Amino acid sequence: MLAIPEGVRGLLERLEAAGYEAWCVGGCVRDALLADLRVLNGTRPPVRAPEDWDVTTSALPEEVMALFGDRALPTGLRHGTVTVKTPGRAVEVTTYRLDGEYRDRRHPEQVTFTRSLEEDLARRDFTVNAMALSLRGELRDPLGGRRDLENGVLRCVGDPDRRFQEDALRIMRGMRFAAVLGLEGEDETGAAMERNRELLRDIAPERIQAEMTKLLCGQCAREALDRHPGVVGVFWPEVLPMVGFDQRNIHHCYTVWDHSTTALANTPPVPELRYAALLHDIGKPSVFTLDEGGVGHFYGHAGRSCELAEGMLRRLRLPNEFRERVVRLIAWHDRDIPRTDKGVGRALRRLGEEELRLLLALKRADNLAQAPAYRGRQLEIAKGEAILNRLLAEDACFSLRQLAVNGNDLKALGLRGPAVGRTLETLLNRVVDGELPNERAALLEFVTES
Ligand code: ATP
Ligand code: MG
Repeated sequence: MLAIPEGVRGLLERLEAAGYEAWCVGGCVRDALLADLRVLNGTRPPVRAPEDWDVTTSALPEEVMALFGDRALPTGLRHGTVTVKTPGRAVEVTTYRLDGEYRDRRHPEQVTFTRSLEEDLARRDFTVNAMALSLRGELRDPLGGRRDLENGVLRCVGDPDRRFQEDALRIMRGMRFAAVLGLEGEDETGAAMERNRELLRDIAPERIQAEMTKLLCGQCAREALDRHPGVVGVFWPEVLPMVGFDQRNIHHCYTVWDHSTTALANTPPVPELRYAALLHDIGKPSVFTLDEGGVGHFYGHAGRSCELAEGMLRRLRLPNEFRERVVRLIAWHDRDIPRTDKGVGRALRRLGEEELRLLLALKRADNLAQAPAYRGRQLEIAKGEAILNRLLAEDACFSLRQLAVNGNDLKALGLRGPAVGRTLETLLNRVVDGELPNERAALLEFVTES
């Protein structure tokens, strides 16, 4: 039987004891079932146990508030949601409801509460999200979500065109569930995603961003992107020229799009890295040249990719630091980092350990997505990584923080103003390059003598 966490059980018991119906519903039921299925058939990778447990109940919001007193917070009364604190987690308790007309393609104009679980399940987006689980382990699944989950199918509840027209964010949610859960859109659902994709223009970029980040980090992100590049093209038209773009170069066996999604699939699911992998070659189509021999070249593509990615990430309102990191990874993806202490030390100085490791992961993935005969750079990358590990183990100096002298030391020698910072930079460069030891006496001597 599917395990419901203790705190959530207590909450369900309390509601039932007061004479109401109460069920776990939505994502938590789906994920718990999926985890079970995957353990059973052992074919697909295990998914994490659900973290958020949502509850749906026949009790009205004010009844829930009254029942739980201090532990209840009216977090979304208009939509019937009360958040109840339980040991271990906060649980969203939402009254069975029907959604009214959707006017702005995102928010129902009005919600109507109902005493029918079936009606509540029917308002939900996908069959796999429209299952309820009781305290006693009873599964309420009138729309066939379990069967769809078993078959790896993503299917809208009801008429897909209508559901996407009510709320276009569901198109992105659909792609995200496909990517994260490894589902494939049932034909009508997939076709309706394409037919209604332009409606995404009405959706706030922040919401698209949230779905996109989860989508890109999904185990099946590549497949989901491959099925619907046109959907991504609505908010990121820059991706469209990549699709089907033949690179005309022996290093490549994939189109720019296939290369990018393959690289993405070869990276660990770190959001910045996944964005960088998808966008690292986005500038290629616009800098493409063909030489007399009929060979394709992409001079300056990294810089062009940075420009495009910068605008695309801004459009989706990704936070500044996030965007800057992605753009830096793209800027560096094609740079050769010499496999020497100096080469790796300089990169470490510029990027820091965390980002340099992401860059190495990107380089690995980029190389694995080239033509088979050219995948030999893995060895070089491993060499660079070994040097990085050794430098870190030796506590090598690569930041001002680690330098054996600081600004006060230089001021004591009589330096003032911008000269202090400039001199520290010079010292650090020399230390990273192995021209000076990171020792106080030697550094001060260098300063007095120059
Ligand atoms: P996760 O929490 O893993 O992102 P989830 O399925 O729990 O996935 P939530 O956004 O937490 O997604 O929503 C909880 C449930 O509410 C969903 O499972 C679904 O039944 C319903 N739901 C959420 N958003 C929508 C929507 N836009 N249209 C219809 N139903 C929705
Ligand atoms: Mg959820």
